[in-house]
Amino acid sequence: MASIQGAYGFQLTARNIPLQPCERPSLDPGPEEVVVQVAGCGVCHTDVGFAFDGVPTRHPLPLILGHEISGRVVAAGEKAYGWLGRWVLVPAVIPCGSCAACRAGRATICRQQFMPGNDGDGGFATHVLVPFRGLCHVPEPLPAGLSLEMIAVVADAVTTPYEAIRRSDLGREDVAVIVGVGGIGGFAMQIAAALGAAVVAIDVDQQRLELASHYGAGLVLDASSTELKGLKAAIRTFSKERAPKGIGLKIFEMSGTPAGQSTAFGLIDHGAYLSVVGYTPKPVELRLSNLMAFDATARGNWGCPPDQYPAALQLVLEGKVALAPFIEFHDLEEAPAILEAAAMHSLRRRAILRPSHNKQQNRSEATK
Ligand SMILES: [Zn+2]
Ligand SMILES: [Zn+2]
Repeated sequence: MASIQGAYGFQLTARNIPLQPCERPSLDPGPEEVVVQVAGCGVCHTDVGFAFDGVPTRHPLPLILGHEISGRVVAAGEKAYGWLGRWVLVPAVIPCGSCAACRAGRATICRQQFMPGNDGDGGFATHVLVPFRGLCHVPEPLPAGLSLEMIAVVADAVTTPYEAIRRSDLGREDVAVIVGVGGIGGFAMQIAAALGAAVVAIDVDQQRLELASHYGAGLVLDASSTELKGLKAAIRTFSKERAPKGIGLKIFEMSGTPAGQSTAFGLIDHGAYLSVVGYTPKPVELRLSNLMAFDATARGNWGCPPDQYPAALQLVLEGKVALAPFIEFHDLEEAPAILEAAAMHSLRRRAILRPSHNKQQNRSEATK
């Protein structure tokens, strides 16, 4: 059970200031823990919430953020020894597995859950110490065109919409409306298309909509130039053609903006299902009685239970969900700037921070 020396990362020391570099001289896994050498860690709007929007982390600051992690297990406690050397995805939410919620099959609301970058140091780092429970094995080698660092986004940006769509029972007769086809929605529309649904993509960004039309969306609508009434009319026509037997739209709010949330709620029709996946701390004004009037359902989900990760990963391995057009890589050292860019909504793609392990080796040799 070797400890790992010389890890470093970027921590949040206080709100509304840039992340600060920090060292973690020794990472020692307990019996049920592993150390993962980070290949990639995605930057999520939840990280922005912690850094800039006043959302408290459960672990006190300072804390290394980041919960969208892929990498290799380089140290393992005695109960986790079988994972040593393997490629893994670290679930964004790691439930305890034994509390009442976990036993009832509601693992995502486990109160003893461990979320890297929230309950302990996360993946904006060279290495991360996590419980081995729930780790998802990544096959080695990967199919052509995929790399372990790309797979990082499966840990949250693919699995969270996967779980939202799974809960909606989306099928071939349904119309899926994805509001916001950026970081999460770009994967959601591909998952929905893979399940055979007719997909509508709504965004305010022309480039995103252009990409959407090549990756699953049968209809793309620009909400910056079309009023709600126009969106509804276009979706109605599309539904009649593409999914005439479908009952109620399945709407997925993935923009995490008040405007997107208003649009998503405004699209509710008879028997609709509204899934809220995007996050914004800002409130929106809604006529909640529409749920009653339309006999509709609204639901959210906090991440995805680890037992669903292999199925979500499989869609990526089979090429049904493309990652490359929706991600961009940055050096780990750029973490402070990238988090600020995410906060300004100025990233068009999901950013993945990539530590250079050669650099880290030089660094630890220099400090010997
Ligand atoms: Zn996230
Ligand atoms: Zn639990």
